[in-house]
Amino acid sequence: MLRFPRRETIHLSMSSVWETTTTQDIGTFYDAIMLNLASLCFPDQEKSCFYCCPPIRDPEADPLDAIDEKIQLLRKNRQELQKNLDDPHEISGEECWGLGFLDDQEKQAGCLLHPLRHQGRDLRHLTGYQFKCANALCREALVFAELSEVEQKFCLTLCRNMDSIHYSSRRNPLMRLLVWDREMVQVIIHENLENELNASPQTSNLNNFVTRYGFLWQKLDFRLDGYLALRIAEQKGCNFLRHNLKNYSQLRDDIIVDLKNNLNLQTTSTTHLIPAHKLKIPLSLSRLLKFGANLWEVPPACEQEIQQLIKPKLTTFLINPRTRRKRVYQSGQGQENA
Ligand code: SF4
Ligand code: SF4
Repeated sequence: MLRFPRRETIHLSMSSVWETTTTQDIGTFYDAIMLNLASLCFPDQEKSCFYCCPPIRDPEADPLDAIDEKIQLLRKNRQELQKNLDDPHEISGEECWGLGFLDDQEKQAGCLLHPLRHQGRDLRHLTGYQFKCANALCREALVFAELSEVEQKFCLTLCRNMDSIHYSSRRNPLMRLLVWDREMVQVIIHENLENELNASPQTSNLNNFVTRYGFLWQKLDFRLDGYLALRIAEQKGCNFLRHNLKNYSQLRDDIIVDLKNNLNLQTTSTTHLIPAHKLKIPLSLSRLLKFGANLWEVPPACEQEIQQLIKPKLTTFLINPRTRRKRVYQSGQGQENA
């Protein structure tokens, strides 16, 4: 079974997806996942993703911010490839002259300098960033690679009618879904699998999907909510979470305050604190500690203490999500019971 590194992002680029057989310096791990990744980066003949080009880009920049400009650039780079090859120059974070439409119909967009387009000659060094180009891989692609074939197929049904620009955008609901951990993605897929896979290939239930799950990225943040939301979704389903969002947010905020107030930082010498991600807890819980409670370093072996702070509140919420609100109202007189 493949083991995935506990890193937020890894740098391997879309172009590296193509090089499962040509790049010698990518290890077995990458070779193996690349075989799966091909379908997220190049899901079909109608579109492709180019979000990670150039690899020195502003991470907030999105193809949908300037659609017309982006199309013109992809077209121009394809038309002027030979001219650029004759007079190559280093790229900036804004754009790469090697990124263009890959076909005359302007459907797929990607790297025009990739070895697969040049009989095995890798021309990406002409941009000055060959290593980064060949070694960029997004978190979404990693999560996608961990899914089963059926689950991957479901994901791609959400993008049936998209072009490459919309598909590459990180506002694409599929990409927004895939930033959540694999387990959460799987819960959601399996809530929808049957309906979506039976839908006509011409239609997409994307709007319906956004209505039901848009709250995940509109109201929640996978770094803060990944751990708690998964526990709730696993036991009660995402609908339960969506219908109790206000109470859930209150629960999360209470837990964050508890973690801040009760983890014994004061009694532990700072030299003994350890990074939160070194605890034997899920990555999503260490993110809650870091991004929610601002606890980047914690006392060693405090896993049990953390669970004792979280579990009773979470259990109460699962039994009756409104309990907490009622008790908060009562606690206006100085009682805090939940
Ligand atoms: S951003 Fe991710 S999905 Fe898109 S091409 Fe790069 S690795 Fe593939
Ligand atoms: S050379 Fe340009 S288009 Fe090719 S992988 Fe690098 S950044 Fe992307």
